[in-house]
Amino acid sequence: MSTDAFPRPQPGEPFLLTPGPLTTAPEVKAAMQRDWGSWDGDFRAMTRALRSGVLALLGPGGEDYDCVPMQGSGSYLVEAMIGTFLPRDGKLLVLANGAYGLRAAEATRRIGRAVRVLDKGDYQPPRGEEVARILAGDPAITHVLAIHCETSSGILNPVAEIAAAVAQAGRKLLIDSMSAFGALPLEPAALECEAFVSSANKCIEGVPGFGFVVARRDALGAAGGRAHSLSLDAHAQWAAMEKTGQWRFTPPTHTVAAFLTALEMHAAEGGVAGRGARYTDNRDTLVAGMRALGFETLLPDRWLSPIIVTFFCPEDPRFDFPHFYDAMKTRGFILYPGKLTVVDSFRIGCIGRLDAGVMRAVTEAARETLAGMGVTSAAPPAAALAERRRAETL
Ligand SMILES: *Cc1c(COP(=O)(O)O)cnc(C)c1O
Repeated sequence: MSTDAFPRPQPGEPFLLTPGPLTTAPEVKAAMQRDWGSWDGDFRAMTRALRSGVLALLGPGGEDYDCVPMQGSGSYLVEAMIGTFLPRDGKLLVLANGAYGLRAAEATRRIGRAVRVLDKGDYQPPRGEEVARILAGDPAITHVLAIHCETSSGILNPVAEIAAAVAQAGRKLLIDSMSAFGALPLEPAALECEAFVSSANKCIEGVPGFGFVVARRDALGAAGGRAHSLSLDAHAQWAAMEKTGQWRFTPPTHTVAAFLTALEMHAAEGGVAGRGARYTDNRDTLVAGMRALGFETLLPDRWLSPIIVTFFCPEDPRFDFPHFYDAMKTRGFILYPGKLTVVDSFRIGCIGRLDAGVMRAVTEAARETLAGMGVTSAAPPAAALAERRRAETL
């Protein structure tokens, strides 16, 4: 389904192959070319449209949920979700396999709440049966936090089997779906999920400035007075919005306007299914093109998300990532450095205003760049291949 119709954002402006902020449509940028009064009825209508637009993506049972937008980047929303839904005497099990899971655990510690971490390292998925085992052995755990797509490696975590284990054990599920919501199906009612978070500048393809908590309305109602923080209190934000239609503190007005245009474009593309199909096509085109050059992915195909892909750096000593990065930027593509602890790697995002034609141009630029560096094969070193073989047994 490649359309190859996505032009460079502006002449000379690079494509962002990063997991947000990402390359946005000209229409999304154009939506920000005026000012709105935060208190005015026009902006209150925009806030209502934002909330209902997000709720329209939730699938069956979505009417039991509400959407609470909050100022800040995604991490602010993760912290708000934990502080608002985890009771002060609760205990959170964080399922970590990368930087975002570890960050959520650190946020929980800073808030002063009890936390246990299942740390699976760089890329192993937390599986349902180990979650069930931990919950059976630790009755103090009240909530479990799962990362939908762990953007550090690009792994798509098995949220459905995790959710089943959490529900079976009678605990509550929180999800960080920051980099997945809007492109991968997430039906919170089917998962019996209490709350999840995402942000404006990922798969909906808006610009940075706010995120949103989606939570069961009864859980929002019951969460008063729990938050550790005035500004990161999702209950208070929700209660004020329900009462006045306004955000409690200065809203990112232009970002909200951009987001409404982004939501319209998301619907026009066929919603979650359409967006997910384009990103999948991006990933498949990218991975095939990079493998043809000798590159290999960290993860076996089974765990690859259509969000971002981690590639090993080539073994050839003539390969130098800072040089590769700069040369790719000169050709109009901003890559993303790797985050693995064991071997050198880099990442290429598949999300944003990009299509398969852009991905073919990326791999062509990589081919030219390697040739310019004198690298004849992009094959990874033995240590990376050993790592990959381990990943294949998961
Ligand atoms: C982007 C992202 C976040 C939030 O990161 P910010 O830099 O605060 O926007 C959290 N979790 C995941 C999985 C993400 O991809």
